[in-house]
Amino acid sequence: MIKNAQIHFNEMGTPVADRFDDVYFSNDDGLAESHYVFFTQNNIAERLQNHDQSHFTIAETGFGTGLNFLNAWLQFNNRPKNSAVNKLHFVSFEKFPIKHQELVKALAAWPSLQQQANALCSHYPIALAGCHRLEFEQGTVVLDLWFGDVHNSLPQLSYQSQGIVDAWFLDGFAPSKNPDMWQQSLFNAMADLSRCNATFATFTAAGFVRRGLQDAGFICKKVKGFGRKREMVVGTLEKATKQETTPAYYYHNTRALNNVAIIGGGIASSCLLYQLAKRGKKSTFFCQDSKLAQGASHNRQGAVYPNLQADNSPPSELYAHTFLYARRFYDDIHKQGYHFDHNWCGVLLQAFNDSKTQQHSNLVNKAQWPTPLIRPVTQSEASDIASVTLPYAGLFIEQAGWVDPAQLTHAIFNAAQQQIKSDNYFNTDIERLEHTESGWYLQTEDEKFGPFSDVFICAGEHSDRFSQTADINIHGVRGQVSHIAQGSESSKLSTVLCHKGYFTPSHNGEHCMGATFDKNTKSREVKADDNETNHAQLMKFYNQTEFAQGLGEINSEKAAVRCCFSDHVPMLGQVPEQQDLIDSFHNLTKGKHYGFGTPVTPHQGLHVLTGFGARGLCTAPLTTEHLVASLCNEPRPLSERVHHVIHPNRFIVRDLIRNKIGV
Ligand code: SAM
Repeated sequence: MIKNAQIHFNEMGTPVADRFDDVYFSNDDGLAESHYVFFTQNNIAERLQNHDQSHFTIAETGFGTGLNFLNAWLQFNNRPKNSAVNKLHFVSFEKFPIKHQELVKALAAWPSLQQQANALCSHYPIALAGCHRLEFEQGTVVLDLWFGDVHNSLPQLSYQSQGIVDAWFLDGFAPSKNPDMWQQSLFNAMADLSRCNATFATFTAAGFVRRGLQDAGFICKKVKGFGRKREMVVGTLEKATKQETTPAYYYHNTRALNNVAIIGGGIASSCLLYQLAKRGKKSTFFCQDSKLAQGASHNRQGAVYPNLQADNSPPSELYAHTFLYARRFYDDIHKQGYHFDHNWCGVLLQAFNDSKTQQHSNLVNKAQWPTPLIRPVTQSEASDIASVTLPYAGLFIEQAGWVDPAQLTHAIFNAAQQQIKSDNYFNTDIERLEHTESGWYLQTEDEKFGPFSDVFICAGEHSDRFSQTADINIHGVRGQVSHIAQGSESSKLSTVLCHKGYFTPSHNGEHCMGATFDKNTKSREVKADDNETNHAQLMKFYNQTEFAQGLGEINSEKAAVRCCFSDHVPMLGQVPEQQDLIDSFHNLTKGKHYGFGTPVTPHQGLHVLTGFGARGLCTAPLTTEHLVASLCNEPRPLSERVHHVIHPNRFIVRDLIRNKIGV
């Protein structure tokens, strides 16, 4: 559980951390100090001009007020026009995040940074452990804010190339005030994460820090400190260590992505298109229907909320962080002027029986999720939130709500077109994929498209129709939602209710309620019986309530197939060639720990993004960002353990480890 910083402002107006009895930056001129110590002494201005990658990555210990980040951002914006770098990636670690209102106050001191500071404050995340990916300036400035002790966070980073960091801002309170942070393990981890020729700069000249960094492999030297400070230390790592966190069986091979095809038409393919377009990658888009969102993304009102559990499991982490990112992502699309009906009115999970009540209490007491994410409410608080009388207590997810998924899918698609226009083929049913030396060809009954370097299959329940994906073991779950006319009491409902199914606030005079669950079918046919099931389910829980009693007729319905895997987690990554994978890693079964750097050869450039189930609205934006970032060899937003959980190889790897596959 993350604790916020306790701070006060001293007589000079500088924020001071009570726990450490130390200032966040110099009383003299914090901005000038930040610029001199971290930006200038890492020689970043010059390095931006002749860098060997299109993104430059800075990592920092101790985000504090974000002053170092904001200055780096400002300097990045002022880089020369001929700079090879078009993206600044800033990864920062913070154990005790400053509270939002104190951040606003602390940053008000810097008029030259106000524009950036306002953007940071409006995106500043809640105190949830893990990585919060915040994007600014159309994604050209990215902040990965890792909440948690840097010693715990560093091993969670997911990377496979030799290092990801170009420059370190080794900040943190003075070693004498914060000895726990300044450990050899930190210096070693810095070296492991560094690219060849990465640098560091730190304000301290403490001998043990310099020696520790030297032992970790950095060539160190003392230079003149800022202002009255005599010395500080800088250094360079001339040779990257061979450390990686991603084992070969969970690799994503780096791809140029300059000539890609996307097969789909729902929320996942729109998000993918956007994440590629944001990086200047043009796609060719194939949709079997005449327009977008005819599959599982076609409900009128889809609830957007995370599937949180009582334990800190990888899926819980996945849902919590994908949800918070999805909110920022959708708000950003909306701010760009792309309309979709939605209401962030919260989602109320109802404790309608003893076992649900127990489940909720476990969730609150064991996992200790931050209350701005999810909090317990009494029956009377629940009724106040909902603006109608409800019979149950529950859990409230305040930032959640509903969206019109089809409009949202269009909005994201259109926003992607604004970044870089894709070639779009509707009414184009891709039936077969063929790989040749020149790349991938996509075949309909009578047409052939290609070649493409990469193909992304985001085709929902049709994702396993190709010979290359036939074995991915996806299940179709048919679901029907019903639209019921509002009554005068139900029209007041002001939040989404989740019992076994869900019931939305009225929109255009109707509520959405559902959904049914029919396993192992891919039929989209609507059924009158299912409307009755939905209604009966609602009445089972809300029979006594005025809002449910006054509802009108069911006027229409929609059925769709959500597809999912047996572990209820989506799948994103390169499609495995199953026998290759088994042959390469069969000794997993004997407990062999495979090293790194021997990637298997999956179907080169063939990727699958599917299994989003009923949660695609929550998980699609960040999981697609993770996949594209990985393929572009950029820092990844999801932790290593979550990277494993969504990887297409996971089922085979688990079976190999458990000795369930005969080799
Ligand atoms: N870079 C900051 C800025 O630009 O405002 C100032 C950093 S302040 C001097 C040091 C920060 O390090 C504090 O916010 C503190 O909470 C954080 N910190 C201290 N120990 C830490 C640890 N073990 N892991 C992560 N952050 C830590």
